[in-house]
Amino acid sequence: MRKLLVLVLALLLFSNLSGCAEPEQIKYDRDFFAMDTYIACQVLSADEKLAVKALDAVEAAFMDIDRLTNRFEQDSEISAINQNAGIAPVKVSEDVYSMVEIALEWSDKTDGAFNILIGDVMDLWGFGSDQPAVPAEAALAEALTRTDYHKIMLDQENLTIYLPEKGMVMDLGGVAKGYATDKAVAALKEMGIENALINAGGNVYVLGSRADGTPWKVGVQDPRDPEGIKAVLQGENTAIISSGDYQRYFEADGIRYHHIIDPADGYPARASAGTTIIMKSATIADILSTSLFVKGPVEGIKLAEEFDEVDAAMIITADGKIFGTKNLNDYMAEN
Ligand code: AMP
Ligand code: MG
Repeated sequence: MRKLLVLVLALLLFSNLSGCAEPEQIKYDRDFFAMDTYIACQVLSADEKLAVKALDAVEAAFMDIDRLTNRFEQDSEISAINQNAGIAPVKVSEDVYSMVEIALEWSDKTDGAFNILIGDVMDLWGFGSDQPAVPAEAALAEALTRTDYHKIMLDQENLTIYLPEKGMVMDLGGVAKGYATDKAVAALKEMGIENALINAGGNVYVLGSRADGTPWKVGVQDPRDPEGIKAVLQGENTAIISSGDYQRYFEADGIRYHHIIDPADGYPARASAGTTIIMKSATIADILSTSLFVKGPVEGIKLAEEFDEVDAAMIITADGKIFGTKNLNDYMAEN
């Protein structure tokens, strides 16, 4: 009897102690608008002040990168680069310099499917304006003569970027959200946040796990059903980044014209409807979600298999078929 009492007391004490050692993590969330996208962030923490600071840091990371890379703001660094095309090199921040450097590296690795000189072509289509429309073929052909990204001149010592021909227009829309995501995650880690989720319009990063210790789950939108989920993916400490022809588009004569351009002909790429990349770097995942979309399901998946950094990739076609890397199943959740 006495023994039993001691055991019960010990158990009570133990449960109490363990309760003290692990204060409950509470979910704090915040939604904000940046980079033309609603961004949703959740942070788990036992410390409310820290959680608020962490959410502030995430918001600041997106606002900062937005300010630097917004082509439609006259005083952004990207505007300075574009205004000085054919005139002079422009001194930039380390963030813009390294975004451009990484983008150019992966342009080559994707055989030019990723091309940050697509800005002029984007403008001809009117993406970013209120009235997008199909441009004249001659105008597209003319704009394509100024998209040779190999001509971009970087000077690492002086941190300058130079577009050597007048009319060249740089657009970082395919990489900036991923880059901002990496910056936000770095800030969270520095603050000691271990569990969080950032979703910038399908540009997701999952840090640690959910409050109950199970992995964060990420629904991949069905490209042809705004309410539907095509697959549920899960992961820990990884970017899970999607691009799709459903994110920004207009329709004319029954054809969907969207914002991911095939640099080979200046038209919206047709072979894919959605792509998702799972890998540690959100910057590169963002680049690849755009460029593998251009490559299409067969070539795109083949290329993804060649990159060691890529953990898994998935491409959905307009008729709803799913193409994936060999290990895609390892990341598929039950739902
Ligand atoms: P995402 O939503 O990440 O797929 O990026 C789409 C954005 O990237 C577009 O809104 C353009 O700003 C830019 N973009 C479109 N096509 C390309 C391309 N082939 N290479 C690089 N950037 C592109
Ligand atoms: Mg992208």
